[in-house]
Amino acid sequence: MKYNFHTHSGYDDGREGMQEYVETAIEKGFVAIGLSGHQPLPFDNEWSLPKKDYPDYLAEAKRLREQYRDQIDVYIGLEMDYIPGFSEDFRGFRKEAGLDYVIGSVHLVMKPGSDNTADIWFIDGPREGYIEGIQRIFGGDIKAAVEAYYSQQREMVSTQKPDIIGHLDKVNMHNKRELFDTSSSWYQKAVDDLLDAVKEHDTIVELNTRGVYTGKTEEYFPSKEILQKCIDRDIRLMVNTDAHHPSQLDKHFDRAVMQLKNMGLERIHTPFFESAL
Ligand SMILES: [Zn+2]
Ligand SMILES: [Zn+2]
Repeated sequence: MKYNFHTHSGYDDGREGMQEYVETAIEKGFVAIGLSGHQPLPFDNEWSLPKKDYPDYLAEAKRLREQYRDQIDVYIGLEMDYIPGFSEDFRGFRKEAGLDYVIGSVHLVMKPGSDNTADIWFIDGPREGYIEGIQRIFGGDIKAAVEAYYSQQREMVSTQKPDIIGHLDKVNMHNKRELFDTSSSWYQKAVDDLLDAVKEHDTIVELNTRGVYTGKTEEYFPSKEILQKCIDRDIRLMVNTDAHHPSQLDKHFDRAVMQLKNMGLERIHTPFFESAL
């Protein structure tokens, strides 16, 4: 049973219209597709939905949901960045737009205690910028930077209550086993503390295949080790590909589902349905 709830179209930083995504999903035999553009942000950037296009995004998504109603379930969502002091409240945003679901993600880490946009560490751009941010914003203290990333996600899960937490260990993407040790006790504690909140709020953790099929990472987000912790704690899991082109809608989907099954997962979830593996 194929689905994908993490997709970006030409409205934000993906390519092609949302109609192409829906039609490709039907061709591939999906039971459901979720549209999840990056929410409009209060400062200029190159990836999120421009504020002026947001009403169009919602109208187009609703049109597609009606047009293809008999062929596929279309769900309207957003991938929302949680930036303390800057992002709008997820639940207010969601209610106002009538969204079906929200993926909560952290790409921008605010230095704890700061409210200055100059103190935002961007973990998802080029590696040079990632390393420069650790030096400039965190005085070279990688442990403080990574801990801030995890605690910002924990705060997001507790205060914003997204349905899904996106690419939970993306902070590790540029690590390349050089900058910090994921087996160290401080890293494990940061992850465990986050998973405690995820369990408490029943947030779904996505296995996100994008890092692997774009060649940026060896493992899916999150790592096998973290996925195993999720399975052991009975945290709900799903698979998404974070597609930025219709051809990426099912990239590594089957492989990822098989990995979870081999790791002992028995049921897979989405915000709207679940199935046995
Ligand atoms: Zn993301
Ligand atoms: Zn995304």
